Amino acid sequence: MSIVVAIDGPAGSGKSSVSRAVASELGFDYLDTGAAYRAFAWQVREHGVDPLDEEDVLDELERFDYSIATDPAQRWVRVGSTDVTERIREPRISAVVSSIARIPGVRAHVTAIFHRLIAAARVGIVVEGRDITTVVAPDAAVRILLTASPEARAARRAGELGTDPVGIAAAIATRDATDAQVVDFMTAAPGVITVDSTDLDFPGTVAAVVAIVHQTEGTAS
Ligand code: C5P
Repeated sequence: MSIVVAIDGPAGSGKSSVSRAVASELGFDYLDTGAAYRAFAWQVREHGVDPLDEEDVLDELERFDYSIATDPAQRWVRVGSTDVTERIREPRISAVVSSIARIPGVRAHVTAIFHRLIAAARVGIVVEGRDITTVVAPDAAVRILLTASPEARAARRAGELGTDPVGIAAAIATRDATDAQVVDFMTAAPGVITVDSTDLDFPGTVAAVVAIVHQTEGTAS
């Protein structure tokens, strides 16, 4: 069986870029679970469905034809034959994704997709999101909560999007508050190791996570 490294964390914690780099370094696959919620939110908007109308949203789920690259050297997300890699990062999608992600039927559906993608991994897979350590892969060999102060997270996200950190801080706080009603990703569940990246640079954060994986492998062998 392949090794699963589960990484949870709030918006802007750097978990996507850190997880991708960790996967590359270890020769593992990489799964960004937020991309599925975002891609579905994109489809819901594209088809003119009200994200707050649960029944209509669940109806859309039957037509959700999702695929994603799990090779960390590749970066694409598709809905049907449409490449939505960039579109799902737009603020208009970030603004509605939480309302869609809170619907239990949506979570169950995408979690089943994640289980299939995790089962297909050959050597190992780094899986990142909000409920990976607790719901998607609670039995993962390595379980990490990646945190950073709200200021550090807003500054990083603003750097990525090239916008002002003050507006971003408010958008992140709103999204985290809505998401936290569904999954508690701000406190580490029992057995989950916290990595606080507030005072770490990117290579330092990657190294900290890789060290935890190696430690676990050492303990297991
Ligand atoms: O990680 P990212 O910011 O791309 O996630 C987008 C949204 O998808 C989150 O704000 C949250 O609503 C949802 N999400 C989730 N569970 C996950 C991953 C993401 O609910 N495992």
